[in-house]
Amino acid sequence: MSTVMQARDLARYYTVSRGFLKGHATVKALNGVSFDLQAGKTLAVVGESGCGKSTLARQLTLIEPPSAGSLVLGNTDVAKASRQEIAALRTKVQMVFQNPYASLNPRQKIGDQLGEPLLINTHLTRAERVEKVRAMMSKVGLRPEFFYRYPHMFSGGQRQRIAIARAMMLNPKIVIADEPTSALDVSIQAQVLNLFMDLQEELHTAYVFVSHNLAVVEHVADDVLVMYLGRTAEMGSKSLIYSRPLHPYTQALLSATPSIRAEDRRVKIPIRGELPSPMNPPDGCAFHKRCPHAVERCREELPSLRELDGRQVACHRAEEING
Ligand code: SF4
Ligand code: MG
Repeated sequence: MSTVMQARDLARYYTVSRGFLKGHATVKALNGVSFDLQAGKTLAVVGESGCGKSTLARQLTLIEPPSAGSLVLGNTDVAKASRQEIAALRTKVQMVFQNPYASLNPRQKIGDQLGEPLLINTHLTRAERVEKVRAMMSKVGLRPEFFYRYPHMFSGGQRQRIAIARAMMLNPKIVIADEPTSALDVSIQAQVLNLFMDLQEELHTAYVFVSHNLAVVEHVADDVLVMYLGRTAEMGSKSLIYSRPLHPYTQALLSATPSIRAEDRRVKIPIRGELPSPMNPPDGCAFHKRCPHAVERCREELPSLRELDGRQVACHRAEEING
């Protein structure tokens, strides 16, 4: 297996104003996340809205430098790369967003939009570019006559196919997909997820797949990273995480998910309360106010991420709870 992306203690802090009298506060939207992404595999990043998963996704696309930590793509440490190297790396990491319409130019024909990355980044002739665009359109299930149409003429599912085709035009090593099916009808979601899977099999692209939907993640992931308030709560292979989650937060998320597998009847564990504000994170374990297993130690001491039972978990009581 070859590692195409390595993140170590990645962090992103923002300074926000708390109003005239209170001054400024630092929000640690992403607070030290590490993972290895393997070629052709999918790492799913899951958690509630506000847990930092979109911030993590943005960091991975090299749009803004991290506040701390390191990101290595292939053999290149992004922090030590020259401007030209970063520009070259950007073509290797592409992004697919939740709302494909926002990322398409309403006044440009689909064929031209798909050809644009080739125009900018390659020396192909127009005829060669058109041929590649037509081949990619066919791969993602877009009919040849769509080449001359504008974005508004398509359904949400078709637009997401267009966005995926454009992300794939330069044959990237990595695609970062942030909630790519969340805006689609359920019946269309499965088709788009299958398209992601088919393309991965054919092109060997690695995905970082951000989603709040654990049923979707179960369908696409090889590995799962569960985030809570900017940190990793639990990370490991999908089979381990789904069959035997060790972190109380993972357990609660999974128990709230109607499983794709009919035989699976999990006990429902409600997640109490709201995700705390990252502006004012609780002491100790960030989950302690909502955790049914919290004890005094949880309120005082931040649990470190450690190896247990084939995965990584950040919970003081993981053994006791799951014993
Ligand atoms: Fe719950 Fe304590 Fe584990 Fe945090 S450390 S998840 S509060 S048991
Ligand atoms: Mg988000």
